[in-house]
Amino acid sequence: MSSYQDDEEGVPFDGQASSFPKEFGYGAFDGDQDNNSADHKPRILLMGLRRSGKSSIQKVVFHKMSPNETLFLESTNKIVKDDINNSSFVQFQIWDFPGQIDFFDNCFDFDNIFGGCGALVFVIDAQDDYLDALNKLNLIVTKAYKVNQNIKFEVFIHKVDGLGDDSKMECQRDIHQRAIDDLSDSGFDQIHLSFHLTSIYDHSIFEAFSKVVQKLITQLPALENLLNILNTNSAIEKSFLFDVVSKIYIATDSTPVDMQSYELCCDMIDVAIDLSSIYGVKEEQEPAAFDEQSSSLIKLNNGTVLYLREVNKFLALVCILREDNFDHKGIIDYNFLCFRNAIQQVFELRNKSQSPMTNSIGSPVVNGGHLMGDGHLSP
Ligand code: GDP
Repeated sequence: MSSYQDDEEGVPFDGQASSFPKEFGYGAFDGDQDNNSADHKPRILLMGLRRSGKSSIQKVVFHKMSPNETLFLESTNKIVKDDINNSSFVQFQIWDFPGQIDFFDNCFDFDNIFGGCGALVFVIDAQDDYLDALNKLNLIVTKAYKVNQNIKFEVFIHKVDGLGDDSKMECQRDIHQRAIDDLSDSGFDQIHLSFHLTSIYDHSIFEAFSKVVQKLITQLPALENLLNILNTNSAIEKSFLFDVVSKIYIATDSTPVDMQSYELCCDMIDVAIDLSSIYGVKEEQEPAAFDEQSSSLIKLNNGTVLYLREVNKFLALVCILREDNFDHKGIIDYNFLCFRNAIQQVFELRNKSQSPMTNSIGSPVVNGGHLMGDGHLSP
């Protein structure tokens, strides 16, 4: 199975901020042949206090670790540069900063840390006293904003599996209010923070990461548009474009996402990949659990069909539709091929574009063919 370019790399650190070398290479990624392309990669920083759950999030979302195994993770005492290079749409880095580092020491090169950063995810442990975390959040956000005003600030109110529904809401309200008040007191009312309730024990962490990643994809409107067109012409109710390994959805159509549908689609990917890796034909070098032949169909007992198709090496389309409408599988498959073609053109446009981070590709002209059907598939 195709896996991430997993060149997780620990930078040895002895816990003393002052000993941190200023020349430390925050710039290009290790192993990156082309510095230019490294500049294009949106970078996600993952920060938070010690034991807030940063390493667990990273392992569960990007390395398929099961949540229970995170209990045995050693506490982070080094900066982890984790290059997630799994598709041309999802390319980013996670820097896991040990919470105890006082990285406001002059040794840190802030321009480099925050300059190329697309999103800063700050993890707050909701099961712990969070006043300290809020102070650190304020420090980091204001510092980062001074360097780079385009950073998206995302606060994960984490480990909410331990809280009841009411306390979750109360906790979110309280953290939100305090964080905004702190920013306002420091004279930074203009900074926007987004809040997400997360836990590694359910799909909330994947949902939250999907939202974060989507904000960094400048082609999102084009992708959404293509999914809308596909849905209308194929009588599909909901469709997600998934990054297969992480189960982050990088785009969906414009109808609202309900968690149940998302979870169903995630489970379908797991089932398809697991079955395929067990029974799939193994290639000589690596077992290919997901390739251009990959497709899967699951009929549920409520008259709904889940349909998965490979879009490219790393992306899959997962659709939910009514069983009656699946009678027209031929049309759906034809429309899917047009859709896949169009997606490839979006990728190509992006690759041609000099700076995908700054150039927005609104609605690319795609010549993937004309989709069939008018949204009312009749027998
Ligand atoms: P780090 O120091 O920020 O990297 O924190 P770790 O990832 O090492 O996590 C610290 C502890 O929190 C571990 O024992 C994890 O199992 C636990 N943890 C992480 N995420 C969650 C979560 O969503 N819910 C619960 N209940 N525990 C979590």
